[in-house]
Amino acid sequence: MGRPAYNPNMVDFSAEGLTDELDAWLATDGLVLAASERAARALTTSYHQRRRDAGLTAWAAPRIVYWQQFLRQCWQERTHDARLVLSALQEQTLWASLVGAERQLATALEGPRARMGKLAMEAHALLCAYATEQLAAPLRAGWQADQASFSRWLEQFDARCANEQLLSSARLPLELLRLLEAENAAPRPPLLLVGFDRLQPTQRRLLTAWGQWHEAAAGPRAASVHFYEAEDEATELAACARWCRERLNANPEARLMVIAQNLERRRGVIERGFLRHCGGGFEFSLGVPLSQTTLVRGVQRLLRWLRQPMDEHEVDWLISTGQTASSNAESAALALRMKRLRRRDRERARWTLDDFVRERCDTPAPEDWVKRLLAARALLNEQSAKQTPLAWSELVPRLLAAAGWPGARPFSSSEYQNHRGLLQALETAAALGFDGQRIDWFSYLSILNRVLHETLFAAESAGAPILIAGPTETAGLAADGIWFLGATEEGWPATAPPHPLLPIAVLREAQMPHALPKLDWALGEAITRRLLSSSPEVHFSYARQKDGVEARASRLVTQQASAPQPLPAQWHVATDAKPLTVLFEDRSRIPFPPQNATGGSSLLTNQSQCPFKAFTTVRLDARGWQPAEAGLTAKQRGTLLHAVLHSVWSGAPHGIRTQEELLAITDHRAFAAKHVERVFADHLPPASQQMPRRYLELEQKRLARLVAEWLDLDATRAPFTVVDVESDSLPKIGTLALKMKLDRIDRLKDDSLLIVDYKSGEVSPKSWDLPRPEDAQLPLYASFGVPPDEVLGGLVFAKVRTGQCEFAGRVGDARETLLPSLSAAKDIAKHPLTAEMLMDWRDAITKLARDFVEGRAEVDPRQYPQTCAYCELHALCRIGENRALLEEDSDAEEIDA
Ligand code: SF4
Repeated sequence: MGRPAYNPNMVDFSAEGLTDELDAWLATDGLVLAASERAARALTTSYHQRRRDAGLTAWAAPRIVYWQQFLRQCWQERTHDARLVLSALQEQTLWASLVGAERQLATALEGPRARMGKLAMEAHALLCAYATEQLAAPLRAGWQADQASFSRWLEQFDARCANEQLLSSARLPLELLRLLEAENAAPRPPLLLVGFDRLQPTQRRLLTAWGQWHEAAAGPRAASVHFYEAEDEATELAACARWCRERLNANPEARLMVIAQNLERRRGVIERGFLRHCGGGFEFSLGVPLSQTTLVRGVQRLLRWLRQPMDEHEVDWLISTGQTASSNAESAALALRMKRLRRRDRERARWTLDDFVRERCDTPAPEDWVKRLLAARALLNEQSAKQTPLAWSELVPRLLAAAGWPGARPFSSSEYQNHRGLLQALETAAALGFDGQRIDWFSYLSILNRVLHETLFAAESAGAPILIAGPTETAGLAADGIWFLGATEEGWPATAPPHPLLPIAVLREAQMPHALPKLDWALGEAITRRLLSSSPEVHFSYARQKDGVEARASRLVTQQASAPQPLPAQWHVATDAKPLTVLFEDRSRIPFPPQNATGGSSLLTNQSQCPFKAFTTVRLDARGWQPAEAGLTAKQRGTLLHAVLHSVWSGAPHGIRTQEELLAITDHRAFAAKHVERVFADHLPPASQQMPRRYLELEQKRLARLVAEWLDLDATRAPFTVVDVESDSLPKIGTLALKMKLDRIDRLKDDSLLIVDYKSGEVSPKSWDLPRPEDAQLPLYASFGVPPDEVLGGLVFAKVRTGQCEFAGRVGDARETLLPSLSAAKDIAKHPLTAEMLMDWRDAITKLARDFVEGRAEVDPRQYPQTCAYCELHALCRIGENRALLEEDSDAEEIDA
């Protein structure tokens, strides 16, 4: 008989009359038994389609069931057994609790315990399917190490199931077998098996006990079979996607299957490849964990936040989804609050709900939102500390409703399905309390999270013409064309290590999967043959290069199909093809109106680094996002250092102004410590309230040491006086006035001025080099900030770094006016400040200001990719998409040079 198409629109390619055999079988009271739910669904759909095509308006439902459904139905029909048949998650939980009861270090945490529980459940299922005699404990007496542990858990599992009236679904075939053997030999409907790549020994025994059965005959071998070799995986995927597009263009009704292994891992790559080379029209057989969908992830975070602090980026994400906001205005107000908190230096690494609501800021959280969230929290707090999972599951929808979830936006179709999945997951989590245990809220959340992680969500089939599936998932399905990706020697037939909880002798004796290479080969061969008879056209392919390693063609496919051939030219796409982005040079310019610009000197620095950066930061107020840290951030530490040095040099009553005063201080460390203490009392950021006191004390000591080290250097300088600290100035360049603040201005012994900029990181005066300075602050002040009656003696970075305090910059005569001990070989001594330099800077600064005012805003990084590495505007400028073109430009420049 013919295989059902996975989609009812598929044209049945099978030999004439084979489909009729299915109909004849069903007409004579036979039962069709499919290997999987998907295959049973496809068989049923195609059966109905044939009736409709024949013009019928009513017909009997076909008797088509899948294996698990068959077992359950037959068992329930034959017994009034009160035992609860465990779901997969219930059984895994039971195994995990047995594993955890041994209190081994390796399974002390929930994650490893759940994983070991799953392994134990799989080992038990293998014994039930292949080696039932080993279920008797005495036969396992000689098992060693991990296998002995499993044997012990299995005994406990059997005892728990007996005491608590539970039944593993892996035991269902054995229970049914017992019932069938004890039953009077009443005639049972004959079975026609579809899509079984491999029959396990227990399945065979059960089918034999049932009576008459046979497997559906394979369809005819495909008329067109090819095996291709591609250079790499990207080329292979592109060829497959192009083949799909070509087939669908020729016949829009065609139904195609793409087979790929490790779909869970490769799903993103395949999706991108198909979107690029085929367009749409495809769907995956395998879903994604429900916990990865936006709607459900929002629920998980919201439920957690009611009791636990949440990372700042998670709070931010939750707000951005709008799942807790009753309107767009409320959503925008929450986002604005988050932004303001950050701009006011009130970011935190973790936020409790209370902190987020109460933190002072000029943009409070919307009142209604606060009421709802606190009401939900109050509802949770009213509950007893420990409840059954059922009671917690019933509470969750009430908590969500109280919090106003899912917000103002109606569900999309896929969100609606996510929601249904969530409700089912709540039921599953409730059912995990089958043993009557009472647990606290966090234990319940961890169970719910596990259920959401284990539940795969696949949006309902939209009847897409291309199905992308794993090799075993296609059992019982047919298509107009099949393409099998990844047919390498290592990849196909698929191999895996033998099960670690079962002795290798038992595995081999029972011929369990992966016990011997020949077993993997036999299964791979069966699947390959099945694929070859599931479509008139079958293509296999493999990539010669995989993860940078040379790969060989699958021997199995070579044997079953042919030796690999190069990809046909029409499907071959060069993987270094140019991006789809089309560059469009926007020459329009919107002049900046005459006014003070925000951003100070950084405006010109940005204009020099990349005109687009200046435009977006100053005119669109776009800013990057500095994640909060558990301790002080680098920026906060820098601010504290500036504040301490400002306090030191701000004159009476606490500070000093001249080098003479500095020399009179005998203990620079104690002097610095006092200023640090004062600054820490007044200038610590609000987030420091959450930081440990000891950490702040250590920070204080570190800073005092560092400032003292700098004062030691200042003490060795040529005589100087501090003229001003943190001085405001408003240099004007044409119509552009820039507010700027200078760290410090000294008067040197020759009466000239020295501009000082404190830096705690690595900096160099090379950053002032023309034509595009990397940092324009000091050149700007040197060109436009010095009063006309003053002389500029130099501009320097004061590099305040532990063990490496020094000056770097340009000074008229550095050894004479700045630091007599300076080596003549030092850059600052070798390259003095000159009048030409000042004139060049003036011209460059004037040009940058003019470009900004004229609205020059092109995406033009000063040095790609270095300039972009620390810029946070990638999402706006889309530099990533244009990267290849920029690289091409720089290659061309190198060649020209
Ligand atoms: S990421 Fe690069 S190209 Fe984009 S704005 Fe920043 S500097 Fe310019």
